[in-house]
Amino acid sequence: SSNFVRYKDTFDRLNIKEHNHGVFNGKWAGTGPVLHSVSPVNNELIAEVTTATPKELDETIAEARKAQIVWREVPAPKRGQVLFDIRTRLHAHRHDLGTLVALEMGKILPEGVGEIQEYIDILDYSLGLSRSLNGQIIPSERPGHIMLETWNPLGLVGVISAFNFPVAVYGWNAAIAMVTGNSVIWKPAPTTPLASVAVQLIQQEVLEQHGLPTAICSLANGGADVGQTLAEDRRVDLLSFTGSTPVGRRVGTVVQERFGKSILELGGNNAIIVNEDADLDLALRSVVFAAVGTAGQRCTTTRRLFLHEKIHDQFMKSLVAAYKQVKIGDPLQSGVLCGPLHTKAAVDAYSKGVEDVKAQGGEVLYGGKVLTEGEYAKGNFVMPTITKVNSAMDVVKHEVFVPILHTMKFKDFDEVIAQHNSVSQGLSSSLFTRDAGAMFKWIGPAGSDCGIVNVNIPTNGAEIGGAFGGEKETGGGRESGSDSWKQYCRRGSCTINYSGQLPLAQGIVFA
Ligand code: NAD
Repeated sequence: SSNFVRYKDTFDRLNIKEHNHGVFNGKWAGTGPVLHSVSPVNNELIAEVTTATPKELDETIAEARKAQIVWREVPAPKRGQVLFDIRTRLHAHRHDLGTLVALEMGKILPEGVGEIQEYIDILDYSLGLSRSLNGQIIPSERPGHIMLETWNPLGLVGVISAFNFPVAVYGWNAAIAMVTGNSVIWKPAPTTPLASVAVQLIQQEVLEQHGLPTAICSLANGGADVGQTLAEDRRVDLLSFTGSTPVGRRVGTVVQERFGKSILELGGNNAIIVNEDADLDLALRSVVFAAVGTAGQRCTTTRRLFLHEKIHDQFMKSLVAAYKQVKIGDPLQSGVLCGPLHTKAAVDAYSKGVEDVKAQGGEVLYGGKVLTEGEYAKGNFVMPTITKVNSAMDVVKHEVFVPILHTMKFKDFDEVIAQHNSVSQGLSSSLFTRDAGAMFKWIGPAGSDCGIVNVNIPTNGAEIGGAFGGEKETGGGRESGSDSWKQYCRRGSCTINYSGQLPLAQGIVFA
């Protein structure tokens, strides 16, 4: 394909071919239907990847479980060293992998490279974590007894990832799952299979160098059917799912049905509140990055903007002026800030989103148009859009995964918090203010009801050190930093009796 030829050097360095196997279970396989990875810039083929047949998926799960039996015996700090070697290889290919992500997903190159950096960061974190997967020692009420806590690996962790972070979402999960001694099976989004193959090739090489079973990192490309099987299969101890709320609701229910564990990272409907005393320049730059970055296709994209009435008109003027400056185009061209939407279906969702605003009595203040002329003719380009709505309208209650920013005016801080919290999603939120009282209220019990609660920074662009995830219909999951690693472990509460007697707890006498 012409897309392939254009980036042939990058593909050569990553070992990606025009036709690739999309299943890895210690060896490369995949004889199921073929996925066509296309560029959102021109909707033309880049390269192809094969998917797993049900039999191949079954084998892949079995191999990953077998590999885990070896991996769990490798001491954690040694596992950390293996992950560090993956980190070094990823870092060497940072630019190539970032380019591939930009080409296949459609985000701009700096964000593509940033996404690889996120996997690198969590691997750094995991090296440190490998020496501090600590349990507690707890005082026992019985003489000659000691209580302690063990954190052992669960076994096999399934990772189902969304198209918008084709590497980082896997990375956050894989690094923590592996350092805690689990093997991993990855089911990527069907529209970003090349990124998964490129990452897998790097991991395979490192595991081979260490003489470890390569199925510790397994891969099964495919669509909803492969995902559904992972949700149903009892051999998958933990399923970490990232995607939309409707699919996540289903996946969560299927896993719960068999009492499996799940981490659900679902849709958001994130807001920024700009108070009357805010640093408006900081707020403006943050809103533009958070609403336009990744063409509105981040789970943490700002979709709602609440402006205090005293700064509303001034802020809106600057915001529209800033939107006019945003260069839309090929994400691999320097200077472009807004690439295409990932698919044609997303363009339709955008058009419907704009229509819905008008139908519900809102106004389109900027944008609202699909771009179809000249360099945009073959791609999925739209104009980032600013609307004027009120929080009772239906459009502000749902996530449409495109760059439409709904703006609203407010008077009273308590009232705006209530409006902010009135939607069913609970991922990320930001308040811009210089008032310490407002800040502490915002992060306290009467403040934001989201999993991510920011002050004076955008809603997106989280660091790996904190636990990432959201409340309500965002699914409740937490991954990445803080104590998220504990979810990838089986907690053992152990009591050891060295007294030679058998005193019972609660003073019970049984004789
Ligand atoms: P999606 O729900 O369409 O697909 C996500 C994944 O689920 C894909 O790999 C898909 O093949 C798989 N899948 C589809 N049907 C399935 C089924 N029945 N069983 C198992 N797996 C199935 O989501 P998407 O369009 O790829 O991604 C966009 C969505 O993801 C947005 O809603 C966004 O907010 C969300 N997201 C959330 C986070 C987060 O951390 N909270 C991060 C990134 C994206």
